[in-house]
Amino acid sequence: MAEDFAGRIAVITGGARGMGRAYGEALAARGAKVVLIDLDGGEAEAAAAGIGGKAEAIVLDVTDDSTVGTCMAGIAERHGGIDILVNNAAIHSAEADQYFGQLGPARSRQMFDVNVWGVINCCLAAQPFMAGRPGASIINISSMASYGAQKAYGVTKLAVRGLTASFAHEFAPDGIRVNGIAPGLIMTETIRKELPESVIERVLPYQIIQRAATEDDVTGTLMWLISDAAAFVTGETIRVSGGAALTV
Ligand code: NAD
Repeated sequence: MAEDFAGRIAVITGGARGMGRAYGEALAARGAKVVLIDLDGGEAEAAAAGIGGKAEAIVLDVTDDSTVGTCMAGIAERHGGIDILVNNAAIHSAEADQYFGQLGPARSRQMFDVNVWGVINCCLAAQPFMAGRPGASIINISSMASYGAQKAYGVTKLAVRGLTASFAHEFAPDGIRVNGIAPGLIMTETIRKELPESVIERVLPYQIIQRAATEDDVTGTLMWLISDAAAFVTGETIRVSGGAALTV
């Protein structure tokens, strides 16, 4: 595979497993130095070890703005800057996918802290170290659940689409592009564990492409969005859902 990201420094939150890990593997395969940030240190270390010499793991809670700041500054100091930031960490368990009244204020606030404030914290902390670097690019991971925004999780992911538009404006003078991806149902380990089979069966008929999707179905869109081929694209969130949005 072409090493077209050779020499680039890519930071991925929620990189220990699932899609975050897959983004890390894909970026490393194309030459990037990858930093996997996660609450789960053991899994993040294992993911980095699996990727090999180009990867490192950092235990970090994205909700803690001061340690996020120290962490991004440390990465920039060790590697000379940051080129790519993927804001992928989120709470998206089946339990979290409820109405606000069912979820309660404490858990709702926690989900906003991780899914929304985590994105804000990481964007603001990384910005000074990305500014002016050729091809600097941020990707925020939203969800197809943001379009109906029926329940608390979908509302947090709608906010992520708003943040993508807002940071695209705010960071444009620094030459940083900011885009998003809204995946449909992707059969990560968490989804396989958390989501009842009945829900998965209900989603599939809404897709034009009638098959379950894997992490690999999303990484290609990420690679395109951060590449020079997408140099005139910013503020967009791209749906990767097998056409689900077109059938509902
Ligand atoms: P996952 O649950 O497998 O991984 C999320 C990772 O984020 C975990 O490793 C977790 O430890 C980490 N994390 C959670 N809170 C954190 C915090 N406060 N600080 C640092 N790390 C934290 O998720 P996944 O299924 O791979 O999904 C990845 C992203 O894609 C999420 O943003 C999710 O909302 C979104 N998404 C997933 C699907 C799907 O079907 N899997 C669909 C649409 C959107």
